[in-house]
Amino acid sequence: MPQLKDTYPLYLNNKAVLPNTDLEVTDKFTGEVAFRTALATPDIIDEGIAGAVRAAEPMARMASYERQAVLQHCVDRFKERFDELAYALCVEAGKPIKDSEGEVTRLIDTFRIAAEESVRMYGEAMPLDISPRAKGYQAIWKRYPIGPCSFISPFNFPLNLAAHKIAPAIAVGCSFVMKPASKTPLGAIIMGEVLAETNLPEGAFSILPASRDGADLFTEDERLKLLSFTGSPGVGWDLKAKSGKKKVVLELGGNAAVIIDHDADLDDALERVIFGAFYQSGQSCIGVQRIIIHESVYDRFRDMLVAKTKTLVAGDPKDRNTFIGPMISEGEAKRLKGWIDEAVEGGAKLLCGGAREGNMLEATLLEHVDRDAKALNEEAFGPLAILQKFSHFDEALEEVNHSKFGLQAGIFTRDLFKMFDAWDRLEVGGVVINDVPSYRVDNMPYGGVKDSGLGREGIKFAMEDMTEIRNLVIRRT
Ligand code: NAD
Repeated sequence: MPQLKDTYPLYLNNKAVLPNTDLEVTDKFTGEVAFRTALATPDIIDEGIAGAVRAAEPMARMASYERQAVLQHCVDRFKERFDELAYALCVEAGKPIKDSEGEVTRLIDTFRIAAEESVRMYGEAMPLDISPRAKGYQAIWKRYPIGPCSFISPFNFPLNLAAHKIAPAIAVGCSFVMKPASKTPLGAIIMGEVLAETNLPEGAFSILPASRDGADLFTEDERLKLLSFTGSPGVGWDLKAKSGKKKVVLELGGNAAVIIDHDADLDDALERVIFGAFYQSGQSCIGVQRIIIHESVYDRFRDMLVAKTKTLVAGDPKDRNTFIGPMISEGEAKRLKGWIDEAVEGGAKLLCGGAREGNMLEATLLEHVDRDAKALNEEAFGPLAILQKFSHFDEALEEVNHSKFGLQAGIFTRDLFKMFDAWDRLEVGGVVINDVPSYRVDNMPYGGVKDSGLGREGIKFAMEDMTEIRNLVIRRT
């Protein structure tokens, strides 16, 4: 079993430094201190931003093949350090070891896709002679890096969600400062360690865990040209309001729904819905929170879900048999337990689960939940799913849209017409047919509408956000 060190540095202008050991990070299962790292003070963050400004031009001037080599180095090193990275996630996030390994595999994919895309930043030539006044004119446009970027990432995918910002930034040639979540900073710190082995220009990157004081600089400093934030909707929209003239990308939360139509293959759907609802203890922005089931299969699918949920093994995330690990904190488990109790008091039926001990909350299924209940309308972000019944497909689509959020939706159906109808009518960033909304591959466009966010990630799409088009107009004389 890999070991963690007692202390880890932060990365300031490409270099490891340990100005203090003020940030104590716990093992989320045992509650014991797992390691310590530094909290960047406002002065340190200011130095990081100044470094990113210095590095902006040398980064932009790096050749594509040089940026590709940096990304390829990361791929190689992440493969070599696979077990250590998975173990770090397992400890700091309490993520079951199999899910942790899955995240490291995705991290490697994310950097590999970025390495491939880094040499494909094409532009376009277009004739402008659409009217007599433009006769003899043509334009060529291409993309230029936007400049120093600010990245803020959440606790639940400490590696891969930081990677969805870092890898495209390197692919296009943007310098950056990154603030990982204080509860789970290690994934990003190890990425810093690997990036420090490369020949990125001095100042190209800083990885800076920070407290609330310092965190404001990531949003408000005008030298930074783009803020890419992944986290909760409340914080994200608040930061957008404070971000001045920056371009802003927000990847926020949701209460994702899946529709089980009358012709769905229920055995196939069962495995996927259980995974979507309960993997990582439901702490995924696209975790299944609402299961909308056709009335003709409702009773059967409900019984299948309940029976399967009762078999899920909960416990130590380091144990390979564990499916349900701890939530990130006792406070979060208490919050969701409160919502479950409130729904039951309001008339909901508890089908299974519902008990809490410390930060372990049982996988929970509810039905007959009141329309106004928090458990249905807010983001659960924990091991809770709610069953709902529908008669007509239109009703199911309306139910999915009956949400302030809109990240992804899933539909199990064999009907091609319904598939296209849903694609047109669902207010979400992505529709997944015959799988759960929780499905994501790292090259696809990914993001939300309504309160769930602004802009898209997925390497190619993040690269577009991190660039500005510069046009060249030519008149033939
Ligand atoms: P959070 O909003 O509490 O924190 C996210 C990050 O923002 C952390 O690094 C945190 O330290 C930082 N932060 C908080 N307040 C800040 C401030 N005032 N200034 C600067 N930084 C600040 O979210 P979390 O609890 O870490 O993560 C869970 C949330 O993230 C859920 O809502 C989940 O749905 C969402 N999420 C979204 C996606 C997506 O891709 N759409 C992916 C994963 C998680």
